[in-house]
Amino acid sequence: VATLLVDAADSTGGQIYARAPGTTWDAGLPPAVVAGARADLLDVRLGTAAWGAFGDRVALVTGERTRLTQPAAIVLATGAIERPVPFPGWDRPGVAAPGALQRLLKVAQVVPNGPIVLAGSGPFLFAVGADLRRAGADVRAIVERRTRRQLIGLVPALARRADRLREAAGFGRTLRGVQLRFGVDVVAVDDSTVALSDGSRIEADVVAAGYGFAPRLELARLLGLAVTEGAVAVDASLTTSRTGVFAAGETTGIGGAPLAAIEGRLAGLAAAAFLGRPVDEARRGRLHATRDAHLRFAQALARAYPPVPVLGAATPETTICRCEHISLGALRRSFSQPLATDDPRAAKAELRCAMGACQGVICGEAIRSAIGFAGPEGDRRGPRARPPAMPVTVGAVAACDSTWAG
Ligand SMILES: Cc1cc2nc3c(=O)[nH]c(=O)nc-3n(C[C@H](O)[C@H](O)[C@H](O)COP(=O)(O)OP(=O)(O)OC[C@H]3O[C@@H](n4cnc5c(N)ncnc54)[C@H](O)[C@@H]3O)c2cc1C
Repeated sequence: VATLLVDAADSTGGQIYARAPGTTWDAGLPPAVVAGARADLLDVRLGTAAWGAFGDRVALVTGERTRLTQPAAIVLATGAIERPVPFPGWDRPGVAAPGALQRLLKVAQVVPNGPIVLAGSGPFLFAVGADLRRAGADVRAIVERRTRRQLIGLVPALARRADRLREAAGFGRTLRGVQLRFGVDVVAVDDSTVALSDGSRIEADVVAAGYGFAPRLELARLLGLAVTEGAVAVDASLTTSRTGVFAAGETTGIGGAPLAAIEGRLAGLAAAAFLGRPVDEARRGRLHATRDAHLRFAQALARAYPPVPVLGAATPETTICRCEHISLGALRRSFSQPLATDDPRAAKAELRCAMGACQGVICGEAIRSAIGFAGPEGDRRGPRARPPAMPVTVGAVAACDSTWAG
């Protein structure tokens, strides 16, 4: 077998094609996505997480069994997470990230009961709102913190992209009748309402709070890859700082599904060239031109929706570290002592922040911001990459085969 395709999820295709597991790995994927895939050369392992990198070996776990594999080349495409932004009530039952509601819908066909409010920032609120409405959910409102005027800058970019324009028009039609509020923030969520920055409240049993995406970097860090501005650093051919390791999609920067798909193909070609296989340069050139067009759109989106300050709405009582129940006030009190440092590792040692199941994936940015840590990636006081990249049982680590036996 030439290529091992590993995904921790139970179906292929990542977030956008999330679905209930099918009978074959490609069931339910659009033909364009699987075009050219040679099933006879692929070993697809679903429900398999890459949890560690040790020298040139990568540890993979399926169920209770770990195997070490020694790939000749790696294409890393671990995607993104939704950027967690704490506010009063963000940890209440009924408050979730939009992607969580979307996943419930796509994978389990579950539609939440009661009025739903989607709030935060970014076009994903509209995409999920439209999905929920099509499924019959009671979508009451979409609350976007950017004003309509601030979003005007997107118009020329949309005008150049017929596919995106059609998508946006489709959202508009599906969401007709839903309250759309621009230029307001969520300030708190209680049992039955969302409180907004203009003093108004909207009834909601379910709140989906979304503030864009952040590249998922646990495995990249374990592989020792250079990270710039929160994303895996790649050159034009999608080669990372480590020989033989390539990266594609959201882990290299947030750019949307069509860009991720093109980058996947380009990174695959780069890996093939690295392994001495012939590569069709004309095809590579066409893919690069398409990638550039997608990148320009991604840049326009990034300008229209700049990142929300992570602690903009948090109060001293707001829980920051959900696993260990540490509030913003507790963090600040602890780090305002004389001799206090802005060292995130000290926060860990002192308060157990980021020691729980999420290992800092959910709370890391908020903790660094709360204690005033402004160090760059790789700063010796910053978070240190340690396996496992994903939760794994001690039993699975102990039952480790040192050879990939299939
Ligand atoms: C929750 C969520 C929902 C989204 N929904 C949409 C949508 O509806 N429409 C849209 O246009 N964009 C959506 N996006 C943005 C979207 O992720 C992308 O634009 C696109 O899917 C990116 O593709 P990707 O291959 O880079 O990453 P992804 O599609 O996220 O795929 C990454 C894959 O890597 C796997 N993975 C991660 N770490 C490991 C590991 N250590 N070991 C093994 N496997 C691992 C994950 O299981 C996942 O299947 C969503 C993003 C998120 C986070």
